[in-house]
Amino acid sequence: MSDPAERSALELRLDLHARRCSAEQLAREGLERIAASGLNAFLDVQPELTLAQARAADDRLATIARAGDDWRTTPLLGVPIAHKDIFVTRGWKSTAGSRMLADYVSPFDAAVVERLAAAGAVTLGKTHCDEFAMGSANENPHFGPVRNPWDESRISGGSSGGSAAAVAAGLVALATGTDTGGSVRQPAAMCGVTGIKPTYGRVSRDGMIAFASSLDQAGAIGRDARDCALLLAAMAGFDARDSTSLETAVPDWLGELAVADPATAQPLAGLRIGLPDEFFGAGVDDGVLAAVRQGLSALVALGATARPIRLPRTDLAIPAYYTIAPAEASSNLSRFDGVRYGHRASRYADLDDMYARTRAEGFGAEVKRRIIVGTYVLSHGYYDAYYVKAQQLRRLIADDFRTAFAEVDVIAGPVAPTTAWRIGEQTDDPVSNYLADIFTLPASLAGLPAMSVPCGADAGGLPVGLQLIAPWLEEGRLLRCAAALQQTTDWHRARAGRPAAPAASPGGAAG
Ligand code: GLN
Repeated sequence: MSDPAERSALELRLDLHARRCSAEQLAREGLERIAASGLNAFLDVQPELTLAQARAADDRLATIARAGDDWRTTPLLGVPIAHKDIFVTRGWKSTAGSRMLADYVSPFDAAVVERLAAAGAVTLGKTHCDEFAMGSANENPHFGPVRNPWDESRISGGSSGGSAAAVAAGLVALATGTDTGGSVRQPAAMCGVTGIKPTYGRVSRDGMIAFASSLDQAGAIGRDARDCALLLAAMAGFDARDSTSLETAVPDWLGELAVADPATAQPLAGLRIGLPDEFFGAGVDDGVLAAVRQGLSALVALGATARPIRLPRTDLAIPAYYTIAPAEASSNLSRFDGVRYGHRASRYADLDDMYARTRAEGFGAEVKRRIIVGTYVLSHGYYDAYYVKAQQLRRLIADDFRTAFAEVDVIAGPVAPTTAWRIGEQTDDPVSNYLADIFTLPASLAGLPAMSVPCGADAGGLPVGLQLIAPWLEEGRLLRCAAALQQTTDWHRARAGRPAAPAASPGGAAG
């Protein structure tokens, strides 16, 4: 039996059902790997709680005759999982990466946590993230940076950096993340793992600590598309507690992949891929472009066709997002006032002083920056000039996608313009961090499903993600593309220490 750190969740599931290992054994090994890792990928582990869940899973496994009998009810029975510390959990801390909530323990589980526990998953711990999910580097001012397993002097990406690093390092096979403007896709790309952000509304936001509510969406991070399909299906579905939850049936994504499976030479025949000119222009590193083109060539070899398209309003995504997201954040974060949750300043003169000191101490610089910007753009006299204008841009960006999807089935390009940068390199440069979100923000603003799939490495051996974007509710199409790609290529199997070969020079067949 191969090293558990190398096995996918689907393989672990089969091993559990075949009694080749127990849930308790997997949980213990996972906890040991986490304790030995120097990546700072976890903010809280509670071994007693984890082991109790694992033993309960073993008891249930003993009553199930064979793998397959449990698909409907407990598809993840005994499989270890880690949750981004944005999902509140009973028993573990729920910090959102903030000093404001450093000791906060929720009285209830987020809907995602509840669903995955019901599916049988065993929680290994809470993963590190940017404070309130605001950021793309996971250089957290309160709890330190998450280190990228490919090069520990580099960032993991963010804001779901702990989840992506944990999967990349084999600490856990599955992890949840959230993506408001790229926070599942970008760290997945930078850590060389697979990540999917579904359509806005697919997964309940109940118990997901709010950043920008009209954009926030939970997503799945795993080693490959099949594991992402397994995890996403267990997370998704209507929830009356979330007013924007979609009342749409959750497809059997994994089952659909199995049907598409038999190694036909051209599983993607007929699939039309659009390559936005705006995603392949200046500002994208050569190594990223070369790897993305190599991924596209592999999709074309599987029968897809690729052609250039336009998403002309791409450059408006940054100003639109960095107006709307701070506006919503300033409103959502007003609840952290020292009265209801978390941190309260120990010394203050009166009520106003208590609010001021509490918030000054509890929030880091980036969160404060966003609260200030957000409060400004929502204030009387500026609301129409900034916030309403940004909403209009958002509509135009969504219209660009609608036009493009009349002609193509999937849109592809890089996830990010660069591979992982060095820790400290951009810490004091918020604008550089914002600009690096250029390719992930458009799909978020339009509410579309999007995915990051490993497609090789740059010349320095750092992983690159190929982004795939599909129309509303077409997650299945993304997973099918990614699974087909992963059946014939090995980029998703590359690990630190055994990297993918650097892509050949830019200008490959596709693109
Ligand atoms: N990097 C983006 C930001 O800083 C996106 C974060 C996210 O998706 N949570 O807002």
